[in-house]
Amino acid sequence: MEDKRKYWDPEKETMPLDKLQELQGKRLQVLATLAYEKTSLYRRKFDEAGIQPSDIKTVEDIRNLPLTDDVEDIRNRPLSDRLTILPREIERFNSTSGTTTGMPEPIPFNKKDTDTLIDAEAQGRWTVGVRPNDTAQILTNYDISEMGYDRLGATFLLLSAGRFMLDKQIMINKTAGVTVLEHFPSQLKRFASQAQELGINVNDLPLRMIIGVGEPLSNSEKIELEELFGAPVMTMWHMMESGPIAAECGARKGLHIFSHRSILEVVDPETGELLPDGEEGELIVTPLLYETMPLIRYRTGDVARILPYEPCSCGRTLPRMSLIRGRVSQITDRKGKKKGRL
Ligand SMILES: [Zn+2]
Repeated sequence: MEDKRKYWDPEKETMPLDKLQELQGKRLQVLATLAYEKTSLYRRKFDEAGIQPSDIKTVEDIRNLPLTDDVEDIRNRPLSDRLTILPREIERFNSTSGTTTGMPEPIPFNKKDTDTLIDAEAQGRWTVGVRPNDTAQILTNYDISEMGYDRLGATFLLLSAGRFMLDKQIMINKTAGVTVLEHFPSQLKRFASQAQELGINVNDLPLRMIIGVGEPLSNSEKIELEELFGAPVMTMWHMMESGPIAAECGARKGLHIFSHRSILEVVDPETGELLPDGEEGELIVTPLLYETMPLIRYRTGDVARILPYEPCSCGRTLPRMSLIRGRVSQITDRKGKKKGRL
């Protein structure tokens, strides 16, 4: 089956910017109301900030809401403080990697949220260029990614194909004719060198695209990997709580932000002050469509820029962001003094 659709969600991806912001404002009102009425965490945070959900009228009003901190608001508090549903209504759990706090946190989803998550996973892959006639190999072990490929109709190797051993994964990649390889960028060189030892030149594989996720990747590393594999390295930025938040398109001038799904802001990591488009700082995400465990202005700890707005040659109207430069903790020292330019 060949699918000639250009966009996963044509209406949302080509919406005029003012309409998109209007939609974000409406979705934010719903989310803020739910979070305030159903969770003790946000009731307390809103009350402390002296703000009511009814004060949220447009997307710009988000800046009046308090930030959500990974340690103070999430790790140091029970899950029940953030849940809007009864524990028995949870359909499945994902977890964070525990990069910041050293402890993976459970991320609950009800049935509706699971469906939203799978749709986001599919939209991310569709945006980087995966199509139903592709065969994908996912080496990140994220089963939810697999569901995204399934949703868009692509063929994929089950995570267990190759029995989690690199040699076998490389061999099955070759024999199955994989066209899309999804992996952590830092592991791709090892994949190539191990293939070499098995007598396989990765440049000879029928790979059409590599998808790099889960780690920062600089432009120079990207170019180096593209030369090594002889295929473009497309990037996505995602959170375990919400799936892909932004993905690179064929124009390859930044990652389109799925603004109908999330509100993305950039703040100065020291002061929490909002920064204008074009300036680098900590990414703050508000996933708009998840109801099980609302997150409002969540501090991701990742550093990047929202690019000054301009239309994209791919036809999408969604704003774009830069590649992730790293973690706030790597770029600032313990006292918060800047090491690099932020
Ligand atoms: Zn584009």
